[in-house]
Amino acid sequence: MNKKKTFYYDLSIDEIEEIKKSGKKPILGIHICCAPCACFPLEFLTPYFQVKLLYANSNIYPREEYDRRLSELKRYLKIFNEEHHQDVELIEFIYDNDEYNKSLAPYALEKEGGKRCLICYEKRMDLTYRYADEHGYDYFTTVMTISRQKDSFILNDIGEKLSKKYKTKYFYSDFKKHQGIDRATELRKEYNLYNQLYCGCVYSYLERKRKDEEK
Ligand code: SF4
Repeated sequence: MNKKKTFYYDLSIDEIEEIKKSGKKPILGIHICCAPCACFPLEFLTPYFQVKLLYANSNIYPREEYDRRLSELKRYLKIFNEEHHQDVELIEFIYDNDEYNKSLAPYALEKEGGKRCLICYEKRMDLTYRYADEHGYDYFTTVMTISRQKDSFILNDIGEKLSKKYKTKYFYSDFKKHQGIDRATELRKEYNLYNQLYCGCVYSYLERKRKDEEK
């Protein structure tokens, strides 16, 4: 595959077309980070997949912020399931920020999007991909490709690399494309979803604090 010319949105549509032809609704595990990033992928994917949300985000600091994002996700999922007559399940992973930070700490001074983030993406995707594989899911993906701050090429490259370790197929995505990001903004406003002010880890938290203090 020529990655420079890869359009991940098109790959996701091609895969969905194949699924529609099969007449089946395969199981898709999605690594999920928060309600604002989850809302559009849920709407986009549930017509074709039995979706399982995998909440593994030990990167988030402090614990209160982790709990707030999780509780907002639960609130939105309840509304989504009722309004769309769905039964999407949420699987919560263990939260251990101290342990998680051991891998990030050597890259504390990196800018957002640098080496620290690559490690962070892969750690969470690997953990949830393994779960999807161990539970016999047909597909795995991450909602993170909806974020303007995150490079879809990097995320899909990690997904592709991990797919070589597991039997579960990787579902390429670029949820922000084709008005995905606009629809996510609409949903965030409509349901008044809590929109966090920093990415998640203690380093992004401190960076945000520093910027606020400079204002
Ligand atoms: S900025 Fe976000 S993606 Fe990067 S290391 Fe921190 S939490 Fe992870």
